[in-house]
Amino acid sequence: MIIGEQKPLEDIISMVESEGGGRVLVVGCRSCVAVCLAGGEEEVAELSDSLEQHSDSKDLGWGVSKVTLQRQCEKDFDRSIADLVEQSDVIVSLGCGVGAQVMSEVYPERVVIPAIDTSAMGSPEGKGRWKERCSGCGDCTVHLSGGICPVARCSKMLQNGPCGGSQGGKCEVSPDRDCAWQLIYDQMRRKGRLDLLEVVLGPKDWSKARDGGTRIVVKDRRRK
Ligand code: SF4
Ligand code: SF4
Repeated sequence: MIIGEQKPLEDIISMVESEGGGRVLVVGCRSCVAVCLAGGEEEVAELSDSLEQHSDSKDLGWGVSKVTLQRQCEKDFDRSIADLVEQSDVIVSLGCGVGAQVMSEVYPERVVIPAIDTSAMGSPEGKGRWKERCSGCGDCTVHLSGGICPVARCSKMLQNGPCGGSQGGKCEVSPDRDCAWQLIYDQMRRKGRLDLLEVVLGPKDWSKARDGGTRIVVKDRRRK
């Protein structure tokens, strides 16, 4: 899932003010950002109330409406709220960065304010806690590292073993982060595949990573 956090309220208010306020439509998403408690129905309601309260306290006259889509990253869902968008001046997106962009593309005549900072692809790790697990490198090799991604989880993205700075199983970058290569070693030992760690991997194929520009994935459904 995509992980994101809502921006501080004062930042969102400041962005809405800089666009002149008016009729504000807060748009949430029921998918990833709802799971990470950033942009689902509840957060949409809270943010809408906060914007209304701000408007009332400053006598700004904003009209705030709200809606939560199944997936803000899909144009068809975005198009389904054309009537609401027609009656708005500014859209505040509580979708991830993808949702905000697609919304902006579907409604080019509207400013779409991104109210969420999107950070990573990861998994829920207990109540109110999510962990990054994948950086979308386009060349997945986690079968060679015990199912633990060294791109996303090693601070230096090392592919062939640890840097040597690990202390007590923690990364030298921060004592509150596990050393990915310690986790990889422990996992490989459990799997009885420490032999794999002796294989020196050649240069990773970074051409599929995002450094080459926007990636486009095309699914060919024809049977070969
Ligand atoms: S190797 Fe690449 S695709 Fe696989 S989990 Fe890591 S970043 Fe994601
Ligand atoms: S201490 Fe471990 S996780 Fe941190 S940079 Fe070195 S190998 Fe990577």
